[in-house]
Amino acid sequence: MSVESGKNQKGRVKKVKTRFTADPGQTALLPSISGNSINGQGETDFRRPARVYWHNPDAIPHGDVQQWMVDRFNRVEDFREVYASGDRGPKQPDPVVQTRVRDTAQNWSARVKALALEQGANLAGIAELDPDWQFDDCTDDVQPWIIVLGVAMDHERLAQAPSSDEDTVSALEVADKYNRGARAAALTANWIRGQGYYAQSHAGPWAGPITLTPAAMACGLGELGKHGNLINRQYGSSFRLSAVVTDMPLVADVPDDFGADDFCTRCQVCINACPVTAITDDKQMVRGVEKWYVDFDRCIQYFNETHGCGICIAVCPWSRPGTAPKLAEKMLRRRRRQQLK
Ligand code: SF4
Ligand code: SF4
Repeated sequence: MSVESGKNQKGRVKKVKTRFTADPGQTALLPSISGNSINGQGETDFRRPARVYWHNPDAIPHGDVQQWMVDRFNRVEDFREVYASGDRGPKQPDPVVQTRVRDTAQNWSARVKALALEQGANLAGIAELDPDWQFDDCTDDVQPWIIVLGVAMDHERLAQAPSSDEDTVSALEVADKYNRGARAAALTANWIRGQGYYAQSHAGPWAGPITLTPAAMACGLGELGKHGNLINRQYGSSFRLSAVVTDMPLVADVPDDFGADDFCTRCQVCINACPVTAITDDKQMVRGVEKWYVDFDRCIQYFNETHGCGICIAVCPWSRPGTAPKLAEKMLRRRRRQQLK
């Protein structure tokens, strides 16, 4: 890999043009099919998402290159340890108790969100589970509800992206927060089972049966940004997701529209920072929906060689600590002014 330094003297990501030449050993493992085709880039008709990454390597076209990334990650002791010995909560789910506790959907919603926050989540929202969020090969029973949790990252650590074998801070921060999200979701699911309802937790980095980004948007956890990740009105893009699906009666939250999408139409920060020009200035049609979309084929090799990259979410202005609430207020003020004209 040939990369010019992408960090300034404080270890923060800065906007520099970076040359990247992928490891030929990795390039040789790429499948002939484009990841963008699997994702449905350019398709005008709706279909459910197909599995593309973070799945059983034997079941996806990019399995060999994904395994290359995992092997490379695991050869660094700190990375191996963070998932092997990190606390991801109870390994086995508790049994569902036989007698259901009764309460109103409003009360259950308030209680389960408070419980998730107590268990380490910073954000919690609820949506009706849309079967269209499930991967196309998923045959699980669709539960009526999904609770999506968000765990805030330490931005100082995230902002040291990209990581390398020697500079592990940013990738370790991501892994640590995936572990915290897994723990919060598993403990929340166990609490729900203790009330007599079905509950199953899902946590990264491996993908479960559901694409969590649209679910998190429906739960009110944020808007989709140009970098293909959520932007939350408190934490920007500096957070990770986990989830619980359940049949406990709940009440859905509503999507949060505070102007991040509009902000993205005028901002180029992540485009300029991405070393492999994977982020584009225009929304694209993806499986029948026009939205911000990151070029999978351009991103993936740099992502793999930097143990998960993370530059685009680190440089996003919304991710800077304390900035997102002010930007949200500014965007909402602008909207109010426009409505008065
Ligand atoms: S994660 Fe991918 S899209 Fe984001 S900056 Fe890195 S290479 Fe670019
Ligand atoms: S860096 Fe700018 S364009 Fe990119 S996601 Fe953040 S706000 Fe949107």
